[in-house]
Amino acid sequence: MSALRGRLEQQVDMARHVSWHAGGVAKQGYWPADMVDLQQFVRQLPHAEPLLFVGNGSNLLVRQAGFDGTVVFTGRLQQITLERAAPAAGFRQVYAEAGVSATALTRFAAENGLSGIEFIAGIPGTVGACVAQNSGCFGSETWDCVARVLMLNRHGELIQRSPAEFEIGYRSIEALIEVAEWFVGAWFDLREGDGSVAQRTVAEFIARRRDSQPLDVPNAGRAFRNPEDNFAARLIQLSGMAGARIGGAEVSERHPNFIVNRTAASADDIEQLMELVANRVQDKFGVQLLCDVRIVGSKH
Ligand SMILES: Cc1cc2nc3c(=O)[nH]c(=O)nc-3n(C[C@H](O)[C@H](O)[C@H](O)COP(=O)(O)OP(=O)(O)OC[C@H]3O[C@@H](n4cnc5c(N)ncnc54)[C@H](O)[C@@H]3O)c2cc1C
Repeated sequence: MSALRGRLEQQVDMARHVSWHAGGVAKQGYWPADMVDLQQFVRQLPHAEPLLFVGNGSNLLVRQAGFDGTVVFTGRLQQITLERAAPAAGFRQVYAEAGVSATALTRFAAENGLSGIEFIAGIPGTVGACVAQNSGCFGSETWDCVARVLMLNRHGELIQRSPAEFEIGYRSIEALIEVAEWFVGAWFDLREGDGSVAQRTVAEFIARRRDSQPLDVPNAGRAFRNPEDNFAARLIQLSGMAGARIGGAEVSERHPNFIVNRTAASADDIEQLMELVANRVQDKFGVQLLCDVRIVGSKH
C-alpha cells in the first residue's frame, strides 16, 4: 500500500472548523489529498472507528465533551466536470466531488450555460453535505437535480447509487438499505439555457441572503425546521425569544430562527438556548420545533 498523502491531525479543535466557532475536540481529523487517498485512508481504519464526514461545518455542532472518532474533512475533494454524454435532449450533466462548495457548483453550471441548481447559491456548504441533507432554498431541494451519487463505504470502495435507492425527504436522505456509506460525489442533471440569466439569478440569491440573514456573526443557518404551514422564525418571535441569551449564545433579533455566537459561546450555551426556545414555542403554541442542525458527540 502506498503512503497516505493527506494530513492527519490529533485532537482537532472543532470550533476552528464549524461556522458557529464553538464546540469540542475530535479525537483525530484527516484531510484526504484526493479521492484515491481518501479510499486508502478509510481502508486502513479500524472497522469500528466512528467516522464523521465534515464539509464546511456550516450546519454542525460538536458537543463540548467532544467526538471520540475520526473526522474526515472533504475540503480537498474539489473535482468538478461537465460530462460529455447528455442524459436527455436539452440537458447536460455536471459531476462534482463532495468538497466543492454549493456556490462554486452554481457558478460552474452558469458559466457552462446550465441552469436548475441556482437556488443553492450562497448556502455556505459543500456538495457532499447538500446531498447528504437534501439542502435547499426558495422552494427547491438539492435532490430535484441529482441524477446519481458516488458513495464510499467502510472498505474504501466507491459505489454509484441512483435516487431510487434513497428515501428523499425534507432536509433528509435515508438509504433504503442499511449501509455505512458517505457521499463523495454527485451528478446533477441541468438544463441547457442562457448562462447569463443563470449567473444573474445566482447573484440575486446571494444578495437576498446578505439582506435577510445575520451573516456578520457566527451561526449555523436556521436552527429549526419550519413546521408545516408556519415559520419557525415567526413562532420564536411571537414567543418573545428574539434576543434571548444563554452564556455567549443569542437568538438573533434580525432573524429569530438563527442562534448566533455573540461572545465566545460554548456548545452547551448553544444547545441549551435551542432547548429553551423549543420549550417556549411548545408551551405557547403547542408546536414542536425540530432541530435543523446536526449535533454530535457526547454531552459529558
Ligand atoms: C448563513 C447560513 C445560511 C444557510 N442557509 C441554508 C439554506 O438556505 N438551506 C439549507 O438547506 N441549509 C442552509 N444552511 C445550512 C448549511 O449551510 C447546509 O446544511 C449545508 O448543506 C451544510 O454544508 P457543510 O458542508 O457546511 O456541512 P457540514 O456542516 O460540514 O455537515 C453537515 C452534516 O452533513 C454531514 N456531511 C457533510 N459532508 C458529508 C458527506 N460528504 N457525506 C455524508 N455526510 C456528510 C455531516 O456529518 C453533518 O451531519 C445555512 C447555513 C448558514 C451558516
